[in-house]
Amino acid sequence: MKYDAVVVGAGVAGLNAAYVLAKKGYKTAIIESKPRSRIGDKTCGDAIGVHHFEELGWKPPEDVIDHYYKGVKIYSPSEEYSITVPGEGVSVNRIKFGQWLLKRAEEAGAELLDAHVVLGVEVKDDYIKSLRVKPIGKPGTINVEAKAFIDASGSKPAIRSRLPPDKWPIAERPYMTDFNIAYREVLELEEPVKSEDKDYAVIYLNTVIAPGGYWWLFPKDPGGMIGNIGLGVIWGVDEYNPRSNYDKYLKPRFKGKLIHAGGGIIPTRRPLPTLVWRNLGAAGDAAYTVNPVHGGGIGSSMLAATIVAEKIAGALEEGSVDEEKTWSANKEYLRQYGAKQAGLDVLRMYLQKLTNNDFEWIIKNRIVDGEKIYELGAKANLVDTVVRGVTRFVKLLGRPTLLNQLRIVKKYMDQAVKLYYDEYPDNPKGIWDWMKKAGEFIDEYRRIIGFDPGMRVKW
Ligand SMILES: Cc1cc2nc3c(=O)[nH]c(=O)nc-3n(C[C@H](O)[C@H](O)[C@H](O)COP(=O)(O)OP(=O)(O)OC[C@H]3O[C@@H](n4cnc5c(N)ncnc54)[C@H](O)[C@@H]3O)c2cc1C
Repeated sequence: MKYDAVVVGAGVAGLNAAYVLAKKGYKTAIIESKPRSRIGDKTCGDAIGVHHFEELGWKPPEDVIDHYYKGVKIYSPSEEYSITVPGEGVSVNRIKFGQWLLKRAEEAGAELLDAHVVLGVEVKDDYIKSLRVKPIGKPGTINVEAKAFIDASGSKPAIRSRLPPDKWPIAERPYMTDFNIAYREVLELEEPVKSEDKDYAVIYLNTVIAPGGYWWLFPKDPGGMIGNIGLGVIWGVDEYNPRSNYDKYLKPRFKGKLIHAGGGIIPTRRPLPTLVWRNLGAAGDAAYTVNPVHGGGIGSSMLAATIVAEKIAGALEEGSVDEEKTWSANKEYLRQYGAKQAGLDVLRMYLQKLTNNDFEWIIKNRIVDGEKIYELGAKANLVDTVVRGVTRFVKLLGRPTLLNQLRIVKKYMDQAVKLYYDEYPDNPKGIWDWMKKAGEFIDEYRRIIGFDPGMRVKW
């Protein structure tokens, strides 16, 4: 079986990548372990900011949208205080959305190999020659060859994880603390969501219920009778278990008929050092393109996938695919989203060290307000914002340690953005030196704030 391009994974990343390549006329296959009918069935909070679709230049049909949000509400641990972050969003119906993305890719000419699992990678002369693929329920394996491959297979990447990281910078191995593990249920509720919350994606900060993450209630209908309720915790620390925390703290509080339950893992870190190497590209969770602070990855997965697929299509047009020809994918993604992610990763590690008392104090005293959080999310700039307003500054003087820490975090956030935006190499030759510098930078920051990265993930 020979293709121009093979995309592994029919999630939001893979389906967007396949659409771009097929639309440009390249013979494209999508390899997906799930059967066709389950494509789109992803355990998720389902919430996405409308700006992502504006940036992509298309929007999904109305019938894949379950509910509309006016913004995000963030509650303090006591739930007495809240901040409202403005910004329109939607709750997507993940199955319908996935099926619509699949239809769009297939109509453009992509071929789906569903119920097929990638089991191995054949590398020849430093390039990927083929994938060893097993059709589920059938004997034997098949070899699928292509000129280019895209790994869009999610948090446990099917191609990248099989390549040696000392030769393939795209194969960098993460730490367990680079991820949140999450559990969530979609419920038809007995009691509706509070009327003042039902048009918001609601986030609750509470380090007892969701250590190193948050718990959420994202309403999925205008009446507030259907809720997507879940929590995420940092992975690899103290064996935190999102499922047992859900059962202990949230189940007694939210009664109703179960519509869907599931767990998942979310990369909450800066992006991979490179999204392309040789004839391989990576996008979505496989490339850590998620927002490290709120864990939203639907929009940025689609953005990264679109950029990577466009660059691979450009290289195919020139006759062969390598990192020299596709390098601009990195520059483009970092400028549009990835550099911001690097800054937010710095903030994420700091936030994971805060206590319920800290969060309560910050929200109660309005050290940040909704507009500022929006600005922070949009630009990864802890701006002088937090300490800009006189009243806030005076309040922070009463917590000198916090003020001092915020200054340090701001300094490192700015440096992280600079490292990924201005200092990222212009061509692949510079990647190893840059990775060394980026590694030393993160190590230094972790040491300063006392963040132990723990163990590397064993794939
Ligand atoms: C609990 C939870 C809540 C979340 N909430 C939100 C939210 O509210 N908003 C938001 O924006 N993001 C959210 N996210 C993150 C978001 O869901 C992901 O970032 C996004 O869906 C990633 O898409 P993807 O295409 O990269 O990966 P995936 O959707 O994981 O797709 C990867 C695909 O690859 C397939 N695959 C894997 N291995 C193989 C193999 N060996 N062979 C063949 N196929 C393979 C898988 O079956 C899967 O279909 C959440 C994530 C979780 C886990």
